[in-house]
Amino acid sequence: MTALTFRLTHPCVRCQRALPLRTLCDRTCCVACGHDTPLTEDAWREKLPRAAVAAILLGGRPSEGALSHQPPCCRACQRPVALAALADAVPSGGLRCACGEHISVRAADALTARLVPGAVFIVSEQGPPAAASPVLFACMGCGSAMSADGRRRVEDCGRCQAANYLPDDLWRALHPVEDAVSITVVSRLTAADRRALSLESPASARALAMTTSLDPALWPLLAAHPAPSVRAAVAGNPAAAVSLRLPLAADPDPTVRAAVVDCRAAHSRLLLDAEPSVRAALAASRHTPPDALSRLAEDPALIVRIAVAQAEGTPDAALCAMVALESDETVLLALLSRPVLPDALLTAMAVPSQTARIARHIAALPELPHAAATQLAGHFEDTVRQTLLDRDDLPVRALRTLAADAVPGLRQQARAHPDYVVARRQRRRVTLALSSALVLLSGMGGLLGAVLLASQFSDELLRLMP
Ligand SMILES: [Zn+2]
Ligand SMILES: [Zn+2]
Ligand SMILES: [Zn+2]
Repeated sequence: MTALTFRLTHPCVRCQRALPLRTLCDRTCCVACGHDTPLTEDAWREKLPRAAVAAILLGGRPSEGALSHQPPCCRACQRPVALAALADAVPSGGLRCACGEHISVRAADALTARLVPGAVFIVSEQGPPAAASPVLFACMGCGSAMSADGRRRVEDCGRCQAANYLPDDLWRALHPVEDAVSITVVSRLTAADRRALSLESPASARALAMTTSLDPALWPLLAAHPAPSVRAAVAGNPAAAVSLRLPLAADPDPTVRAAVVDCRAAHSRLLLDAEPSVRAALAASRHTPPDALSRLAEDPALIVRIAVAQAEGTPDAALCAMVALESDETVLLALLSRPVLPDALLTAMAVPSQTARIARHIAALPELPHAAATQLAGHFEDTVRQTLLDRDDLPVRALRTLAADAVPGLRQQARAHPDYVVARRQRRRVTLALSSALVLLSGMGGLLGAVLLASQFSDELLRLMP
């Protein structure tokens, strides 16, 4: 036997107060205004959606919204009610808990059986709340004593006939807020009931296919369900057997095939899938190994390459290889959105022919490799070189290129850059030391020494010439 427990309310049609549902029947009476609100089967169905009821009864979900799998228990002491004792309790209308509390039990009626498949008993329903005892108050017209029992908001004085509207405090005292009532429907499902119930609607079948503990006999039925959403749920559920998920990699529906990507055994097949969305899903899966990502990096479809560019497991070498062949900015931007950007990748992207947008993005990165900065110093777009100059740190080689920039403003800015000033000062010092050494050597050791020294430093000297 299995149980479905719910705590529900329904608004009063007249005063809109949320009424706790105390019984599973076709009407509910408002304690506040006394109005009878009908509860149609459709209204109940909205509160007890078939898919949620099925998932709970079949053990797929412990709870959903106000519904749960909780077995019946005493509302006073929370002691569980023995399911075996329910049948004997029906004739007397209930049983008594060890704590003394009366627990109602009745056989499920036709409405309940339609709402909850296999329903046998309804446990813990409650009768209407006890009427409030009358409260005395004084008439606003003549001051004589009157009494109110909460059935009417306006009471007429028996003496002066004045109509007295009951103040809010008094009204609330007569109508305390009711607690929601937990009602449990105990159900007995045959094997055929279970099967029919689980496959009855795509929504309930899908809810089942997403669960982790399921009757093993149901898995093959779900994997062969006519609705693609159900098969996709099986395909993506690690709780389902691999032998069941693997054939779904050949499903006619691409959404089903894309859902198998977490199943490693299916990778070789999915790599060759004709549908780009399936290959993109494979690239986006964290279970896809680096060698498969390297293959997908060369994919002709843009969405696949974007997924590879963002994938955590793509090897650095594959990322750098992508840059060399990639002409689409969205893929390059996807590469730049990676949380960690290897130096080799940035240097590969920072070529002088790179698009201005990407080049500016790289030039503004907090961590910019020297080689990349040096390459961008020769970029054709002024704004890229300007972005470079706005950095606090720049390698001397990049500054030297920028100090000779064709744009006067950029040239001046490069020459005024603190790193450039320091480098110049050092260069002067080296030139001075070398010149002094030359003079010294030519004086002491003669021409031969000077020539030898000059040849040794010639490269250095040439490079340092301003
Ligand atoms: Zn009402
Ligand atoms: Zn009890
Ligand atoms: Zn009066």
